[in-house]
Amino acid sequence: MIETRFLVADRLVPATSLHAALGRLAGRGWRAALLAARQAVLESAKVAQPFASAALLAAGETEPLGDMLFRGDELFYVITKPKGRTAWRPATAPPAAGSEKPELEIGLISPARVSTSTRLAEFGANLAEALRASGLEEELTWRRPAAARMESLRQAAEWEPARATLQEFERAEAAMEPVARQLLERLEREGFARVAALCAGAEAESASAALANLARAGLVRRDLLISCHLSGRPLLLLTSPEQKSNAAVQQRQCPDCGLGLGDETIEEVAQPLITTAQQHSWPLVWLTERLNRLGMLSLLWWRAPDEWFPLGVVGGEFAGQTWLLAISLQRVDEDEVRALDRLRRRFNFDRLGVIALGGFAPAARRSLEIARPPALLAGSWKDADEVLETSLREAALRYAALRLSPLESAAGFPILATLRVLYSHPG
Ligand SMILES: [Zn+2]
Repeated sequence: MIETRFLVADRLVPATSLHAALGRLAGRGWRAALLAARQAVLESAKVAQPFASAALLAAGETEPLGDMLFRGDELFYVITKPKGRTAWRPATAPPAAGSEKPELEIGLISPARVSTSTRLAEFGANLAEALRASGLEEELTWRRPAAARMESLRQAAEWEPARATLQEFERAEAAMEPVARQLLERLEREGFARVAALCAGAEAESASAALANLARAGLVRRDLLISCHLSGRPLLLLTSPEQKSNAAVQQRQCPDCGLGLGDETIEEVAQPLITTAQQHSWPLVWLTERLNRLGMLSLLWWRAPDEWFPLGVVGGEFAGQTWLLAISLQRVDEDEVRALDRLRRRFNFDRLGVIALGGFAPAARRSLEIARPPALLAGSWKDADEVLETSLREAALRYAALRLSPLESAAGFPILATLRVLYSHPG
């Protein structure tokens, strides 16, 4: 997974200054790849460099010009846009006011995804200095383009910042696992159950692991139960095995068989420690944690599922697009997909995703499969992680390629395909 960050300065930077500055950056560890490639071509063709450079730079006075600079496994870039953003922009974004003004964009495409803003700022400072040394007199001020759309969503009353404590994340993680969900449902239905009965059968091992996780996360309480060895009647709940030898326990007699409680059957039982509110927020908390881990950091919750809207919904911004992602523990039907699509249009989200842990009704799946742009859909717990990661990874690559697209014709190679080779390798 890669992260792309960029900054802009509202300046017309002459192609000649940029060209000279790129040469200076090489001494500081940023190697301008396109410049080097161009020089290699010209050398091979035995064309006089000054003549060719002059022709290229003349074009750079009106057309986007820039370079890709590699340092370690990160890719930095710089692009002058003499005509502003009107020439190219994401298909979904309307032309903003002032978008025809010239600007200089710098960016960082990083597989490391940590402290990227620091390294981009370092690159920006070095580039500004190199430009000054190359004859650009005006000061450059870098600014971050505003994420206006998430901000307006935040102001809509129904949305709240998606925040959860580490404990809530751990609880959601333990409770969302399918075997754990079955155990919790059964415990809720029955009030309490014998651990031996819960962890019996073909899935004994996974049930016992899930139960241990639930107990660790504080969602299930495990106690010891003394019951009649003859009738099976529950007699007394103990919180520790030592209590069995307690005199008060020893002296009590079983009403069914007359034995002292100390001589009756003792076994482990489990009971649920969960609230309805917790259960409703688990899917959202779980999804939020997954999205955070994948790099979608600016997230809002719409609301937890209720009888009016059965899906938990998270809105987020990632790779230059806004995403509306829904999660349901039940089977998702066509009406729900329609309601979700209305929500998407109402808040103007670019992308839609549905994680239906109980699967999809055929009509619901069909309508999502033909959605444009393609919807992200996972129809089971097993699929969810992979679908989320694959979709966001692809979106991250496409976004990086989109930012670099003004360089595509100058680069002379397909940028998206190149980024795929650079950053799609496993690990
Ligand atoms: Zn008894």
